Amino acid sequence: MAQRYIRVQDLQGRIYYGLLQLNQNVQVLDAPPWLQGQPIDLELEPDRYQVLAPCAPSKIVAVGKNYVAHAAEMGTDVPKEPLLFLKPSTAIIPTASTIFYPPQSQRVDYEGELALVIGDRTSCCTPEQAHNKIWGYTIANDVTARDLQQKDSQWTRAKGFDTFCPLGPWIVRELNAGATLQTFLNDNPEPVQSTSIEKMVFSPDFLVAYISQIMTLLPGDVVLTGTPSGVGALQIGDRIRVEIEGIGRLENTVVASRPTAIS
Ligand code: MG
Repeated sequence: MAQRYIRVQDLQGRIYYGLLQLNQNVQVLDAPPWLQGQPIDLELEPDRYQVLAPCAPSKIVAVGKNYVAHAAEMGTDVPKEPLLFLKPSTAIIPTASTIFYPPQSQRVDYEGELALVIGDRTSCCTPEQAHNKIWGYTIANDVTARDLQQKDSQWTRAKGFDTFCPLGPWIVRELNAGATLQTFLNDNPEPVQSTSIEKMVFSPDFLVAYISQIMTLLPGDVVLTGTPSGVGALQIGDRIRVEIEGIGRLENTVVASRPTAIS
């Protein structure tokens, strides 16, 4: 089994990066692993920590319509160059946490995606150089208020709600090029999304190089590589699980939104 790089909070509220052991203990590191964090003399047992999203990016750069079949189901062609948008870092939640269904929307969709975690400051790199800038891989759900995406000329509102970026549960360093990505809704054994990540139009290396021509990527930043076909609606009470072969599973529940302070 590949080494799993995790981020946790202990009972005192201290946040650590660490290595998840087979017995579920966390071997704590003194820094994020992509900043050469080293093991220290501290191991947390499972009842002493809560799992957080595996990194805390300055930004999440996401790619739209990066699978042919998904572009088709949205009624469009694949863009000639990557279609980029940003999700705010405040949208991130860990596995097992809840997605809040916002009152502004009547149509909220799941989008299972492969997420890249950047290890180095990256600016103006080539696809060949980009390969070494991708430190590892995790799973994301690019939750989207589809009705607001269609209503607005850009996607900040539709993609940016708090809790709209489940991320995790951990990071692995290596991934098979043909790994399977699947999304499951509630107890249905049939996936609602199922693809090989090889079917991406623009590869991870190409995407990182392309983004780096526009903005500097920082260590711990996240790139979402787009969702395959099969996107669909979430309802309050649903459980949504995204699995990527060789990484694991990211599972979240949808609940009614928190009361807002707007009056
Ligand atoms: Mg997406």
